[in-house]
Formats: sequence, C-alpha cells, structure tokens
Amino acid sequence: MVNQQQAMFQSPCIICQNPATKIGLCTTCIEQWPVNISPCIVCGEPETLAVNQICGRCLSDPPDFDSCLTGALYDPVTAFLVKRLKYNGQLSIAPLLADMFHHQHSSVELPEALIPMPLHWVRTWRRGFNQAGLIANSLSRQYGIPCWAKGITRTRRTQALEGKTKIERQKILRGVFKVTTVPFAHVAIVDDVMTTGASAESLALALKTSGVERVDIWVMTRTPKNH
Ligand SMILES: [Zn+2]
Ligand SMILES: [Zn+2]
Repeated sequence: MVNQQQAMFQSPCIICQNPATKIGLCTTCIEQWPVNISPCIVCGEPETLAVNQICGRCLSDPPDFDSCLTGALYDPVTAFLVKRLKYNGQLSIAPLLADMFHHQHSSVELPEALIPMPLHWVRTWRRGFNQAGLIANSLSRQYGIPCWAKGITRTRRTQALEGKTKIERQKILRGVFKVTTVPFAHVAIVDDVMTTGASAESLALALKTSGVERVDIWVMTRTPKNH
C-alpha cells in the first residue's frame, strides 16, 4: 500500500514517463540532456571549438550583446519541452529548463538582474503567461538575483525571423523594443529559444542605449548551426 501510494505521488518523467527525480526528468533523460558542447562564448552557437573560444562571425562582426550561456541544444527533445510549455501551458517545464541551465552554469559571473525577453502584450494575454518570465523567475530564485521587467516592452508583434537575411531581420526588429530606465549596469536577457539571435541583439541594443553597460544572454535552448 505504501509503495502504491509512493508510486501514485511520484510524477513520471516529462519526456519518457519513467519515474522522475525532483526536477521532473528521470536520471536517463538527465544523462542524455543535449548539452551545447564547446559553443562560441559570445553568441552561443554550437561550434567544434576549444572551450572559451569565439567563432569567426563574432570576431569579424560582434553582436550587440556581450556573451551567451546556453542550457541545451534545441533538438527534438528540448523542442518538445519548449512547445509543451508554450502551447500546452505545462508550466512545470519552466523550472525544469531553469534547473538544467543552473546545473551547467552554477558558478558564473552573475549579472545584477535577469530580464525576461518580453512578448507583445497581445501574445501574453492570449497565452496567459510569458514563458521567458516564468523561466527568469526560477533562475532568479536559484541564483539569488532579481528579475526585472519594468519599463521594458515589445511594441509590436513580429513575424518569424528564420530564413531572413541579417538586413531583413534588422528591418523587422527596428524599434520593436522600448526600454525606459533600467537601474543596472550588467544584466542578462533570459529566453527559452535562440535561433538567429536577432531578437536578443535588438533588445541588447535597446538596453545599452538606455545606459546598461553589459548585456549577457541566458538562453535555455540554442538551435544548431544552419537551422
Ligand atoms: Zn526520462
Ligand atoms: Zn559567435
């Protein structure tokens, strides 16, 4: 009976349904987590580089943010998790992604605050939440730094940026983020997925224009090269 009760209360792994650890994944799925190995330290793009190196693209044309930490590659498993969070409202996935990020980056130079990538208000209203905000709140508790969203807005909805050239992406994103005073010199933008990095760059630029000196990116999943 006790065992039955324990089994009833032990929630299954979100990915494979085997008994899970307290973070919501089983030990096998944790072991098989698609870690982004040897990414570029500036843009986070998966590269076959020695650790702590910078990719050629960042050397020749540095982005408007200063560094990027990634929690995983965006592969079928993490894509499944992100979609369950965003479109099925399975909110327990936000702390799970934050846990897996923290597990890999427990001793990093901390920013003064975490800034969730804002959604346009219509999208937040339709979805009922901003997934980046939920993830940032979990990271805020784990790292003991505040989460800050005040005065940072997305002024319009934007079309998908995949497949667009850099010039086209810049045109789509021009003026899309509005930032009033942010009282920090060093922040990290938190997001669930990073593909081209154009949104992160656009927000980083808006933050820097408002006086922030250093902007890091903390992204839970990163698409592989040429995605
Ligand atoms: Zn599992
Ligand atoms: Zn790079």
